[in-house]
Amino acid sequence: MNGSTTGGTLPYRTLGREWDVIVAGGGTAGAVAGVAAARSGARVLVVEAQGSLGGTGTNAWVTPLMRNVSGGQNLNLGLTDEIKARLRARGDGAVDAHGNDNWFNPEGLKFVLDDLLADAGAEVLFHTQVVQPVMDGDRIGALVVHNKGGLQALRARVFIDATGDADVAAAAGVPFQAGDEDGVHQAMSLRFSLAGVDTGRLRDFLNGAGQPQDGPEFLHFWMVWGRRSSLEGLFRQAVTDGVLLERDGDYFQAFSVPGRPGELSFNCPRIRADLNDGADPWQLSEAQLDGRTAVTRLTDFCRRFLPGCENAFVGVVAPMVGVRETRRIEGEYTLGVTDILDCARFEDSICRNHYPVDIHSVKGGARLLHEREGSAPYFAPDAYHEIPFRALVPRGVVNLLVPGRAASSTFEAQSAIRVQQNCHTMGEAAGIAAAWAARDHAGQVRAVDVQALRAEMRARGGNV
Ligand SMILES: Cc1cc2nc3c(=O)[nH]c(=O)nc-3n(C[C@H](O)[C@H](O)[C@H](O)COP(=O)(O)OP(=O)(O)OC[C@H]3O[C@@H](n4cnc5c(N)ncnc54)[C@H](O)[C@@H]3O)c2cc1C
Repeated sequence: MNGSTTGGTLPYRTLGREWDVIVAGGGTAGAVAGVAAARSGARVLVVEAQGSLGGTGTNAWVTPLMRNVSGGQNLNLGLTDEIKARLRARGDGAVDAHGNDNWFNPEGLKFVLDDLLADAGAEVLFHTQVVQPVMDGDRIGALVVHNKGGLQALRARVFIDATGDADVAAAAGVPFQAGDEDGVHQAMSLRFSLAGVDTGRLRDFLNGAGQPQDGPEFLHFWMVWGRRSSLEGLFRQAVTDGVLLERDGDYFQAFSVPGRPGELSFNCPRIRADLNDGADPWQLSEAQLDGRTAVTRLTDFCRRFLPGCENAFVGVVAPMVGVRETRRIEGEYTLGVTDILDCARFEDSICRNHYPVDIHSVKGGARLLHEREGSAPYFAPDAYHEIPFRALVPRGVVNLLVPGRAASSTFEAQSAIRVQQNCHTMGEAAGIAAAWAARDHAGQVRAVDVQALRAEMRARGGNV
């Protein structure tokens, strides 16, 4: 006995309204899916647990967008380009001297996504947790959600599971994988920002410390034990002095944020290695505490050891723990690392990727299959592989699509396709397909003409 008991079915009331498409999770993929579906004429509801859209890109404060470039061209265009343009128009996005247009302010992105969704005519329901699908054979009839109104069932013809954790798909009985061959996940991180930084002085220090910078508004510096960072000595001293713990040097990275002068966003701290399952509520909760304790250590370190940071203070602690990988659905196609290395092309391609395999391993160090290493076709500078529509189509359910980091892929392949711009593009494909499935095919997502979908994505500026 493990002490648990199973209760009866909780009572819920079914709302009198019905939508064409309900998107569970208004995050990186989900918000874009909602916009794309509504622009395709569907009545759309986006159900989001937090109080703003954008998910990991806003509420986990993950910035900047990782570059996804092949032959000098961005591989994700379409809605992701529109988001970037709107961010820049607000002063919340920027292009650096190398033409990298991926710098953005997570708080600004919240406003951009609000506007995009409203302009498209979609509805959003914040502070609402999707609890469980109501099944009718191999079809989802409704999603039971929980919010201040209690338990309610929301009906639609087609559903998009953009929760990142495949919450809906898993509860609907879709088979899934989670973690590596040992069931161990990538590290979680609790991102934060430091404000009150004299970025000019910090830039001068970094220039002299072996991490040359473009300018004070585009800072990027890092330290990972054993990876020849010029800041390693500083970290070693801080550990010796008792300011940092050894594990604080497993991954440390900071970036400037457009629209927030004097502020830096940190891609750390990494959460304790034994807390790596973001779909386990107890681990997720413990991760929040572990992360905040580490933020205190890192703030202290920056103030003492980094010139320009003496008067810095915590600007933001991300409301959401950053979760890199949990459940990955088993779809009609599972993308593998061989597909990446061979630059696989698919007739039903809906996205192109050249971001490398990038595993933040809790088993020690980072595993990065970078384009500068290896001889496989993928390592050519103009290479890319494709992601097929079938990777978004879960086995066993007819009216569900799963874009984003939970799409059908192996542990290694997921680490490459999970970056935000790919999640946008997968979301855009899912949104259009869901709208068409609702309108023309009684909700059956497999009946969508994928060549027509690809043509529509191209017509909307996409690169597929
Ligand atoms: C620490 C960290 C650093 C990263 N660094 C980068 C980087 O520098 N650049 C980059 O491009 N990518 C980076 N990534 C990867 C990228 O940010 C994510 O893979 C991507 O944003 C995931 O998008 P998603 O739409 O699948 O999930 P999310 O953006 O997380 O969206 C899921 C949404 O669903 C909501 N939700 C979840 N469950 C429910 C539920 N049951 N009911 C209702 N709502 C629910 C959540 O609140 C959230 O809004 C990083 C990821 C992490 C964690």
